[in-house]
Amino acid sequence: MLELEAALDRILAALPPPVPENIPLVSAHRRFLAEKILSPLDLPGFDNSAMDGYAVRAADLQNASTAAPVSLRLTGRVAAGEIFAGEVNSGDCVRIFTGSPLPRGADAVIMQEDSRPDAAPGRVQFTDAVKPWDNVRFRGGDLKRGTVLGEPGDVMTASRLNLLAAAGLEHVSVGRRPVASLLAAGSELLEAGQPPAAGKIYESNRAGLAALAAQSGAEPKIFPIVRDALADTRAALETALQSCDVLITSGGVSVGETDFIKDAFTQLGGALDFWKVAIRPGRPFAFGRCGKKLLFALPGNPVSAFVTFLLLVRPALLRWQGAREIALPAQRGILAEPLANPGDRRHFTRVFIDAEGATRPAGAQASHALASLAAANGLVDVPPKTNLPAGAPVTVLGWD
Ligand code: AMP
Ligand code: MG
Repeated sequence: MLELEAALDRILAALPPPVPENIPLVSAHRRFLAEKILSPLDLPGFDNSAMDGYAVRAADLQNASTAAPVSLRLTGRVAAGEIFAGEVNSGDCVRIFTGSPLPRGADAVIMQEDSRPDAAPGRVQFTDAVKPWDNVRFRGGDLKRGTVLGEPGDVMTASRLNLLAAAGLEHVSVGRRPVASLLAAGSELLEAGQPPAAGKIYESNRAGLAALAAQSGAEPKIFPIVRDALADTRAALETALQSCDVLITSGGVSVGETDFIKDAFTQLGGALDFWKVAIRPGRPFAFGRCGKKLLFALPGNPVSAFVTFLLLVRPALLRWQGAREIALPAQRGILAEPLANPGDRRHFTRVFIDAEGATRPAGAQASHALASLAAANGLVDVPPKTNLPAGAPVTVLGWD
């Protein structure tokens, strides 16, 4: 049985390199850069005003005050997007707005709140002094041309989209998203909408796994439920493999005589890399390859499927797209109640961590218990044979 970290290493080592594709910047949210981007521009691109006010020569206003306002001649106006044709000479001012290019000759902007009308036409009074370059945003003051705006593997956050848009980029090269086929195996499973029947249960793994797959950047594709029979399983795997990059199954991967995923996969030419990981929930987890396509065979128990997805499939889907950061988001918590793992496998315990960091078990920890999974917002990795007392610091792994 593999340790979790060893299992993940083997999965990551088996991934094909990311496939770059050029897409419009506006579609690139949450994608991962496949290229290094240098700014083609200085930002700002020109000296400009940080205020609505007047472009002046600071020396002209050095003695201005409310008691002794200084009057300047208004020689023009420059709106954002325009260029002032003339020059600001001593004794002049030019009406200016936030983002307007600074006119030649001016060395400061005084905000309009420090001005008032002058009785004389064509003049404005100023009631305060300004220092040279007050309220001026300098060319290149934000960043210089040639600055690195992104590296391969960087995630395209909303703010990075802002940055690249400001640099004038229209397209960006990112890793392609994997198509992830989702398949559920079990003769006891009902599709949504089917009438309840004795001994049957509603299939529930595909919904949550599809959501997690989408959140990991994959394009989920849901396939019908597969009966527990070798021929059915083989046919279903074959169909699903045709149109995906990654096949994610749940159920049918344990040791029972109704578990056919592994046999069906190998009969189709797939090679299993490993089976079984030393964690709870989720021991029966198989990983394999069929050509360039990957198989993640998750346990059927709903919590086991969910947790193994987070620990082993999510990082693979992210890295498949070229992501550098693939670890689950982690935060520090303090146990508000003791947490015990009497077992001999690491237990990823469902917990709820509140805004202050107080962390407590989210309820029953059995691997079919969905109510506690829905109540949880994190997992704590509790080592085997370990009692963590209340007050112990813990790392809480999240997923949203
Ligand atoms: P298995 O891994 O096939 O042995 O299934 C383990 C347990 O998980 C059994 O109780 C199954 O009924 C249940 N199970 C398997 N697949 C699903 C699914 N897709 N939705 C809900 N429960 C499932
Ligand atoms: Mg089963």
